[in-house]
Amino acid sequence: MSIRFIDLHSHSTASDGSDTPAELVRNAAAAKLAAIALTDHDTTSGLDEAVREGRQRGIEVIRGCELGVRCEHGELHILGLWLPEDGGSTPLNATLAELRHHRATRNHRIAAQLRECGVDIEYAEVEAISGGESVSRLHFARILHEKGYVPSPQEAFARYIGPGGRAYVAKETLSPAGGVALLRSVGATVALAHPMLFRYPGNGFAEWLDDTVADLKSHGLDAIEAYHSEHSQADTRRCVDLAARHGLALTGGSDYHGAGKPGIALGRGRGGLRVTTAVLDSLKERRLRQRLPV
Ligand code: AMP
Ligand code: MN
Ligand code: MN
Ligand code: MN
Repeated sequence: MSIRFIDLHSHSTASDGSDTPAELVRNAAAAKLAAIALTDHDTTSGLDEAVREGRQRGIEVIRGCELGVRCEHGELHILGLWLPEDGGSTPLNATLAELRHHRATRNHRIAAQLRECGVDIEYAEVEAISGGESVSRLHFARILHEKGYVPSPQEAFARYIGPGGRAYVAKETLSPAGGVALLRSVGATVALAHPMLFRYPGNGFAEWLDDTVADLKSHGLDAIEAYHSEHSQADTRRCVDLAARHGLALTGGSDYHGAGKPGIALGRGRGGLRVTTAVLDSLKERRLRQRLPV
């Protein structure tokens, strides 16, 4: 049997990706991936459509989401994989609705601050280009770019909406331990997303990350996202070491956003990414040991 590949981190129009959930799955099938996880920010609204399309295309779709959680030095991201199917009834869904409410509050403030910077923008325009379910700063970045305020969407983060930018507004959210515990409470497998993208102020990142991971493990953290489009080989090695030291599993994905992040392909990242089905098998074995469904 030939080696097959997977992608356990992707976004659809339910948050800030540009493919609908069904399109995303069709693209995954075209890329001959064996499995994907749809991990939209703060929402599960794309999952049913993606799972349905996956059944038709013969590709395994894992129900996921990505949460931004606030720690003393900024925002960490965590992924929940194998979310439960029971729609609106879990504590997770109630909290996701609150998080989206905080998102909307923050987004109105971003729009107001941008106007103070002389940018011609209404929040309704931002909502209009999103699916409306989970509006993110990437939508602001697209509009700032389309209107010619920045040479690329990326630059919108440096100049306006990223930390240190003139229209940066932090988002109210969960603590890292709270986020991990919430996802675990509904039977999800929880991974720390792209750890090496975290901008730690000053020296001592490795030690801080080690302590943070130890703490999160005590709240139920399962895995480290070692393989990611924006991780260098050295970053990946550090993550593999980190996971090994703490007895955690590995996960990986492209963080595909479609046209929202040009240059990042499903399953392939910027070209060098390859996550094999062995990664998925290890995650499943861990779940079986935990007596959780796969
Ligand atoms: P939000 O969840 O609203 O805070 O928006 C964060 C989203 O914006 C992330 O999920 C990324 O898709 C995108 N993003 C954040 N920082 C950058 C950056 N420096 N360059 C490009 N996209 C970014
Ligand atoms: Mn995003
Ligand atoms: Mn992220
Ligand atoms: Mn992501």
